[in-house]
Amino acid sequence: TDGAIITSSKNIHGLAEISRKNFISVLQGTSRFDTVVYPGQTSDMTLRIFSTPVFENEKVAYIVQVSTPLTSIEAALNNLKVTLFLLFPITILVTGVMGSFLAKAAMHPVDNMIQTIHQITAENMKLRIASPKTKDEVQKLAETFNEMLERLEGAFTAQQQLFADLSHELKTPLTILRGEFEVGLKRARSAEEYEAILHSGLEEINRITKLADSLLLLAKFDSKEVRPEMKLIDISSLIQDSVNHIKVLSEIKHIHLILKAGERILMNADEGQLKTAFLNLLDNAVKYTPESGNIDVTVERKMSMARITIHDSGVGIPKKEIRHIFDRFYRVEKSRNSSGFGLGLSIARSIIEAHNGTIEVKSNASQGTAFIIKIPAL
Ligand code: ATP
Ligand code: MG
Repeated sequence: TDGAIITSSKNIHGLAEISRKNFISVLQGTSRFDTVVYPGQTSDMTLRIFSTPVFENEKVAYIVQVSTPLTSIEAALNNLKVTLFLLFPITILVTGVMGSFLAKAAMHPVDNMIQTIHQITAENMKLRIASPKTKDEVQKLAETFNEMLERLEGAFTAQQQLFADLSHELKTPLTILRGEFEVGLKRARSAEEYEAILHSGLEEINRITKLADSLLLLAKFDSKEVRPEMKLIDISSLIQDSVNHIKVLSEIKHIHLILKAGERILMNADEGQLKTAFLNLLDNAVKYTPESGNIDVTVERKMSMARITIHDSGVGIPKKEIRHIFDRFYRVEKSRNSSGFGLGLSIARSIIEAHNGTIEVKSNASQGTAFIIKIPAL
């Protein structure tokens, strides 16, 4: 405690100076740590010194100091610094380069897809994206995109076909009209002749008007613009009305048109629309049944459904054509010589489906055709 050294290790030359504040603390009885620079033989050495009091009769009698050089720790710390400063940027650089390489490799198929997509236009809808066999999201994306293209191409082709058919249907009556007017104007005609030409002209104009009306109705169904105007009706009497309406036509061809409708079958429906649908079906039955044939119409209740069957003994529909007859402008080849646009059935189906109903067809060349319609009843 008076500063005199009682004993020391051989390699200690002189006393390492610890701070005054710590020396006083040790004198008062607490152990302390110090870091001091000790002048060595070749170079200075940093020492970590532990000073601890030794008590005698509860008073500090001696101080024991133990020290260890910090060189190895400093060396380790220096090494760590170098490692951190060098290795860290190198690691970042390497991961960065590898990351960008990987990202490029992963994005390569997407790049290819983008290039193909750029080439797809309305005129070039057949193009498809090469789908990479990577079994990941990119492959799924490519496949989904191709499916979408498939659907779009289908819709687009149908649209083009519609345009072509429409132009064709418009052309026929217009050509007839022009022909008749030209013939009429060639020389002076009698009043009867002019009247005949006007009559015939009016027929063609009616034809065009019917076409425009039908197309407008279909377009409205497509855009879901016409919601059926539902009210409570009796489907049996609606069919009765339609049959009466068509009787005029069937009688001209001496067709036996028979309706079997018993009980009242109530339902919520759009009267005008349903009548259009059934008139279209009955009109077909008369049109495609030869003279003196039969048409049987039945209305009955089957559970919660009204079931209407229109069965004719007409020309029938060939098996391979059946799946097309509801398409717009589709007409079976042999019916081409009768008037019509091929729109009646697509309109009928749209109307029945808007009433949550179904329409199916059974046809056979020898036994004629049956249309079966089911609509939910009350
Ligand atoms: P539109 O009804 O527009 O005046 P359309 O009668 O030719 O013309 P749809 O009613 O749509 O057109 O019928 C499509 C085609 O289905 C007809 O052209 C005809 O070939 C065939 N078809 C429809 N109903 C019958 C039927 N009852 N018997 C035989 N063929 C039929
Ligand atoms: Mg028709």
